[in-house]
Amino acid sequence: MTDSDILREAARRLGQHWLIFTDLDGTLLDHHSYSHAPVDKTLAELERREVPVIFNTSKTFAEVSAVREELGNRHPFIVENGSAIYIPRNYFPGTVGDATRHQNYDCCLLGQPVATIHHWLNDIRRDLKVDFASFAEMSTDEIAHATNLGAEQAARAARREFSEAIQWRGTDTQKELFRRAAEAAGFTTIQGGRFIHLLGQCDKGRATLRLASEYTAQLAQAFSVVAAGDGPNDVDMLAVANLAIVVRSPAHDFPKLPAGTKAVYTGAYGPEGWAEVVDFLLAQ
Ligand SMILES: [Mg+2]
Repeated sequence: MTDSDILREAARRLGQHWLIFTDLDGTLLDHHSYSHAPVDKTLAELERREVPVIFNTSKTFAEVSAVREELGNRHPFIVENGSAIYIPRNYFPGTVGDATRHQNYDCCLLGQPVATIHHWLNDIRRDLKVDFASFAEMSTDEIAHATNLGAEQAARAARREFSEAIQWRGTDTQKELFRRAAEAAGFTTIQGGRFIHLLGQCDKGRATLRLASEYTAQLAQAFSVVAAGDGPNDVDMLAVANLAIVVRSPAHDFPKLPAGTKAVYTGAYGPEGWAEVVDFLLAQ
C-alpha cells in the first residue's frame, strides 16, 4: 500500500468525531524557528469543523498558555510530558473528577510536584558525583542559549511545576547510571531533543487516554484519537492513538514505534508535514 492508501483507509476508520493530540516543538512548531505559519490554515479549518486540537507537550503551563493565546486555541491541554491536564472551566457540561482549581482551569495531576523532584536531584548529584544543570539552576540567559528561545520564552520554560529539564554535562555511562537510579526511585526519565526530562510516573500516552475518556464520558459519544509527534517522548502518545502521525524532523530520525501502531510518516518536515497529513484526512 502507498502512504495515501494507508491514509485513505485510516480516514475511513476514524469515523466522524476525532480529537487531535499534538506535540508542539518540531511538530506543530518548526524545530528551529518555532514558526506555526504552515499549520494556520489547517487549524482554522479544524476549528470550523469542531475538531479539538489538544496540545500535549513537554512545555510548562506558562509556555502553553502563550502558544494557545497566539494560536487562538481554547481546548484542554497537557503539560510537562503528561504530568497534568488543564481543562478550561465550563469546557465540559459536567464537573471533572479528581481535579483541583487552577486559575480558570480544572487541573488533573498525573505526575509529581517539582519540589519532590528537586529534593531527589540534590541527593543523586551528591551520591553519584555527576555533573548536570537543571533549569532551576540555570540563568534565563543560559536557558535561552540552550533552547534557542528568547529571554521571555526562556523564563516561561523555567517555570516548571511537575518536572525538571536537565542539561547533561557528564558522560553517557554516568547518564545511564543516573537514569537507572531515577527509575528505581519511582521517577520517569525521557530523553528529549535537547534535555533529559525527569518527572513522575506519567507519560503523554496515559494523559492522552485520560483526557480522551473524559471527552467520551462528558459528551456521551465515541472519539477517535489522532496523535502527532516527532520525537522519542511522543512514542507513548503515538502508540495509544487510532492514527499516529509521525512528523519528520530535521534534527533526528523518526522515533521507533511499537509493533502494531497505526502510523503514517510525513514527507515534509515539522509543521509542513503536520498540515500535509491533516489536510489529506480532512479532504476524505
Ligand atoms: Mg517534539
